[in-house]
Amino acid sequence: MPCLFCEIVAGRIPARVAYQDDTVLAFHDINPQGPVHVLVIPKRHITSLTDLTPQDDVLVGSLVRRARDLAQAEGLEDRGFRLVFNHGPDAGYSVYHVHLHLVGGRKLGWPPG
Ligand code: 5GP
Ligand code: ZN
Repeated sequence: MPCLFCEIVAGRIPARVAYQDDTVLAFHDINPQGPVHVLVIPKRHITSLTDLTPQDDVLVGSLVRRARDLAQAEGLEDRGFRLVFNHGPDAGYSVYHVHLHLVGGRKLGWPPG
């Protein structure tokens, strides 16, 4: 079965794209957990955090900085926001293509549920 997020990268499954360049795609989550919920992903398939190598350090940095830029663009800089990578069953990792969640626009509980 093809990877869902690779299908979105390929344009075969539609998504509300917030940003893209050669290596990164950002799109709005289909089931938002806040007024802002964007997923920032590498265009290249990486199954999980386990598969990251030192060669991916620049890519991971670009995911984080892009999520930060999108948060700023959404006006969340002052009130705050959260960036989350899930991994494994305890964290509810459900789409096996590395993705960074940007969630904000409401008061977020800590610790997370
Ligand atoms: P995870 O739980 O794996 O960290 O997060 C996967 C995220 O992908 C969830 O927040 C879920 O709502 C989102 N998602 C699942 N399927 C789709 C889809 O087809 N389109 C979009 N835009 N988001 C999706
Ligand atoms: Zn994929």
